[in-house]
Amino acid sequence: MDARLEAIRDTVLARNPGEAEFHQAVVEVFESLGPVHDRHPEFLEAAILERLCEPERQIIFRVPWTDDSGRVRINRGFRVEFNFALGPYKGGLRFHPSVYLGIVKFLGFEQIFKNALTGMPIGGGKGGADFDPRGRSDAEVMRFCQSFMTELYRHIGEYTDVPAGDIGVGGREIGYLFGQYKRITNRYESGVLTGKGISWGGSLVRPEATGFGTVIFTEQMLRTRGTSFDGRRVVVSGSGNVAINAIAKAQALGATVVACSDSSGYVVDEAGIDVALLREVKEVQRARLKDYAERRAGVAYVDGGSVWDVDASVALPCATQNELDSGAAARLVRGGLVAVGEGANMPCTRAAVSVFQDAGVLFGPGKAANAGGVATSALEMQQNASRDSWTFEHTEARLTDIMVGIHHRCAATAEEYGEPGNYVLGANIGGFVKVADAMLAQGLI
Ligand code: NDP
Repeated sequence: MDARLEAIRDTVLARNPGEAEFHQAVVEVFESLGPVHDRHPEFLEAAILERLCEPERQIIFRVPWTDDSGRVRINRGFRVEFNFALGPYKGGLRFHPSVYLGIVKFLGFEQIFKNALTGMPIGGGKGGADFDPRGRSDAEVMRFCQSFMTELYRHIGEYTDVPAGDIGVGGREIGYLFGQYKRITNRYESGVLTGKGISWGGSLVRPEATGFGTVIFTEQMLRTRGTSFDGRRVVVSGSGNVAINAIAKAQALGATVVACSDSSGYVVDEAGIDVALLREVKEVQRARLKDYAERRAGVAYVDGGSVWDVDASVALPCATQNELDSGAAARLVRGGLVAVGEGANMPCTRAAVSVFQDAGVLFGPGKAANAGGVATSALEMQQNASRDSWTFEHTEARLTDIMVGIHHRCAATAEEYGEPGNYVLGANIGGFVKVADAMLAQGLI
């Protein structure tokens, strides 16, 4: 790493002790930015990096609620408003027992660059709670969401901060959150949240957008080598929103997705995952992947283990951070891997990314490859602002254009900085320069 940046990195890590995921995200970005500072010494003079690493605002709050037996429960809620240079803070809410400040900050930090890469007018933020929705009734989830919004409402707004979904937060949770926001404020402010239901301000394609976008980005990478998804054997991790829609799109492009996972195990379905059945099991019944295997002939369920033990030529990690380490990466490379598109945020460890890059595997980092979700959220905001709703075809065409544009920006930036094909460098520099220019123009704030 560039010596000037090392000193800044050390200060950032020391100021934020115990936040391992945030440290990882910062180091990964800093490793790309040396050459930018050679060309733009003004960024160093204006302390752009120090300012970028310090969130503009961090909100931590108590979320009290009662479970179905009447017992009082307490969770911790977060909203980190990281950077406001390009537009309202924008980023999802994650409900998962592992959530703490370090995870929210890593996600918010990544979101700054991701949102810049989309070319849309959105800043970076992220939030969530250490609440586990798994096994909770709809009534419990509603009470939790209402309590969460009772504090959050005062910090958000269509011109201020616009949350959306992430792990554990889908259409059901966004509905309860929006209902409570409306009730408290007495405003039908559609643009305050994205991922809403279609009949009350949501956008077609938003549920599919992250998974679809990841596959579109990966297809663009494959095309640089004169190939495509058609006929490929693909493995996807996760079986949530991003994973299911990545599977659907990859198969629509002619691939066979032979495996996917949840946090309990994985399935191997050599005939190709049955997307309709997977949606029924996971989205309607909120059941486990094991139930998918029990309902379909010829499917093997592996309890525990790693889905990355299954050979494929394309891997799409779509579950969670640090789910694919260097050992798994080396095994995938030996099995004939050609490309990786990160549907999740930071699913590959830094060592795994090095294994892929050293082996010449095409590697699309999450801040570029999974940006289709937030980009389509920005399209939802556009529709809300103009009181309009677009067709599926129109919205999907916009998403495709945006993903092709992000791919082009990353590839062109990597080339400009002398490392053609390095999408990590292209994404980090491409996103950073846009935000840094805006911060310089707006003065020391
Ligand atoms: P969902 O909650 O819909 O699905 C998450 C999936 O990942 C589930 O299959 C879950 O399994 C699995 N998973 C979650 N945590 C773990 C864990 N600790 N270990 C193993 N498996 C785990 O979330 P999304 O699909 O929305 O999000 C997946 C990833 O994509 C996240 O990294 C998120 O930040 C990222 N992302 C999401 C966007 C969106 O639009 N939703 C936008 C951009 C990025 P189980 O059910 O067993 O918990």
